[in-house]
Amino acid sequence: MHIPTRLALTSAFAGLIVVFASLIILSSSLTSRTVLTRHARTIMENIASYTIDKAQNHLIPARKAASLTRGLSKNNIVSSKHTNSMVAYFYEQLYLHPQFSGIYFGSTNGDFIMASRYNLIQEGGFYTKIIRIENGQRTVEQIYKTAQGNLIRRQFDPADSFDPRVRPWYDKAHKTNALTWTAPYIFFTSKKPGITTANPVYDLSGEFLGVVGVDIGIEELSTFISKLNVSEHGRAFIMSQTGDIIAYPDIDKLRQVEGPGKTRLTRIVELDDPVAREAFLSLGLPYDNLHMKEPVFTSFTLNGENYHAMFAPFAQSEWPWVIGIYMPEDDYLGSIKSNRNVNIFIALVAVIIALIFGLVVASKLTQAKEMAESADQAKSHFLARMSHEIRTPMNAMLGAGELLAETNLNGDQRRYVTMYQNAGEHLRELVRDVLDLSRFESGKFQPEETPFELRSTIEKTVGVFTLEARSKGIALTCSVAADIPDTLLGDPTALRQILVNLVSNAIKFTPDGSVALVVRRIAAGPTDADDAVNLEFSVRDTGIGIASDKQELIFDRFSQADGSTTRKYGGTGLGLAICRNLVTAMGGRIWAESNPGVGTTLTFTIRLKAAPEAREATCPPASQANSAAPSSGKRILMVEDDERNRLLFTLFLKDVPHTLDTAEGGEEALKKHLAAPYDLILMDIEMAGMDGYQTTKAIRERERAAGLPQTPIVAVTAHALSEAETKSREHGCTDFLSKPVTKAALRQTVARHLDDPCTPENPPV
Ligand code: ADP
Repeated sequence: MHIPTRLALTSAFAGLIVVFASLIILSSSLTSRTVLTRHARTIMENIASYTIDKAQNHLIPARKAASLTRGLSKNNIVSSKHTNSMVAYFYEQLYLHPQFSGIYFGSTNGDFIMASRYNLIQEGGFYTKIIRIENGQRTVEQIYKTAQGNLIRRQFDPADSFDPRVRPWYDKAHKTNALTWTAPYIFFTSKKPGITTANPVYDLSGEFLGVVGVDIGIEELSTFISKLNVSEHGRAFIMSQTGDIIAYPDIDKLRQVEGPGKTRLTRIVELDDPVAREAFLSLGLPYDNLHMKEPVFTSFTLNGENYHAMFAPFAQSEWPWVIGIYMPEDDYLGSIKSNRNVNIFIALVAVIIALIFGLVVASKLTQAKEMAESADQAKSHFLARMSHEIRTPMNAMLGAGELLAETNLNGDQRRYVTMYQNAGEHLRELVRDVLDLSRFESGKFQPEETPFELRSTIEKTVGVFTLEARSKGIALTCSVAADIPDTLLGDPTALRQILVNLVSNAIKFTPDGSVALVVRRIAAGPTDADDAVNLEFSVRDTGIGIASDKQELIFDRFSQADGSTTRKYGGTGLGLAICRNLVTAMGGRIWAESNPGVGTTLTFTIRLKAAPEAREATCPPASQANSAAPSSGKRILMVEDDERNRLLFTLFLKDVPHTLDTAEGGEEALKKHLAAPYDLILMDIEMAGMDGYQTTKAIRERERAAGLPQTPIVAVTAHALSEAETKSREHGCTDFLSKPVTKAALRQTVARHLDDPCTPENPPV
């Protein structure tokens, strides 16, 4: 096996595994991905509604503060005239409500009274601020107390310019004349995020006195959010409708210091969290006007990482805020990805194993194929040698037997010579058939595709048996349907071989009656080419017949219809096996139909092609051909280095009406042919010195150079394999004779080339 074939086999093998592995990985990962993305959304929805719920619970005190401010204004408790009692009441409320960070009242003239949980001097302490404006005099009193209420310091700060009337809570409550909520902001004193509820205060006569406010710290929301377990790297945050961050796990990131004493909430677009920023930007909404009715899901990629995010409004609440949540895809697809990596790893290992396995299999196949090929070559070589070694002496033995049979012999001698000849004939057939079969089995047989004349081929082939049939008193007839074109493309040698086998069997197994060959055209198959000519040949005899259980068996090697056949009729049991191989190679089939005692019909089909230009049969019918007279006085050169064979062939041809000359080798043949060209050369192939191939080639070159017509050259060789015939034709031989050569075969070959080639007495062998 060539390396590319091996590589192709291995890569095809590995490729298949890669495809399967990818399909499995891809499908599982796609399915899991869709499911998990859906799952991630559900998680975010749950977190959002939980957070909103918690945040609203956290803001319940703010609602209390709102009702407190309402109460204060209604009950006329707040009044800058009763500063001390008001401060005491404010502190009472601070104790009661830990979320309140301050309660204060700002009056229309700029007075301000505040109780606050925020203490600059001591953590956990309290801070009171009282601004009074009397007679144009403004005093700002500041009182710091410990957590237990003990005075730490009391001071006046003339530099404090705080004016409640310009604060947003005051302004909004005054203008709307109703309880208001501010948007979240950073408390002036504590610098913490919060919201304020404010309510306008009127006296009993309905005159506006000022605004009471309660600050509610919302930093708790950030603490709560920081404890939420969104995902490993996911975050939740709350923002106002104006894009300010109200709650974020890291509270320090909420504040933006704009100048001394000026701190505001961080806007989403400036938050120190690129993923949160990108999540918001992926919404495509203006950052300072977030009006949202439904949750919105979004996906985005940042620094090569995929994220999913959700923004959901605080529905049905006084606080129109929005919660944002984001999660990196890897947080929930991570396990899939690692599973996928494991799968890829497994697939890679599988591919490597497949590659190794493929290579091992391929190299084993290579070895096996090489072994089979070398065994096959050895077999062919052995058969060729065996054939050559057996055929050369057999040629002399059988030839001598033939010559002996022509001498005057007494009864016993004739019987022994006949026995000798029969045995020799059987041996010759056996060698030929074994060689033929081995040719099929090694796959070397390829039917030829040469133009030939069907009718003349059939007539010549059947003609060989005319004498034999006549001597047995059997009528031998042959008919070819008129609709069959005469010139066809195919392998006439193979067709002759089948016909010889079937007709000789029919005559052999028919004691009396008739043997008829009928040829007809049958329909082409659906897959056949347009120019296909399908023929059916039937050889029908009135012979002994074949038992029905043997009718299929006879096509097997070395099988005969019954054990006594060889004894009675001879044969090797290989003929039909060879026929079946030939027929199959020509695209057909062969079968037997028989009635024991009545007769047998052996039928075969073959697929031929119509020749481009069909010509009429060049040979006249057999009856007319008999009248053709053989020519005489031609010159034959026999080139043969074996003395026995030279003698044998000379004797075989002693009474032909031509002159026979001999040459012992190639060089002598060339010389003789140069001196006076011959009409026919019988060329032994295997010769010492210049062999038959070289000699033929040299003759052809000389003819070509001199512009002479080609002398027919018949290769005579003990090599019976078809390669020997092909090779001899390639070297310029016109015909081929395989040793052992019978007298008749030799004479027929001579006659074919020197006399009328269509004479039925001169059919090819
Ligand atoms: P063989 O050399 O023995 O003829 P074949 O393969 O040609 O080998 O034939 C196998 C056997 O098939 C024959 O031995 C014979 O028994 C049977 N057979 C073939 N043709 C005929 C026929 N026309 N009539 C009867 N038997 C036949």
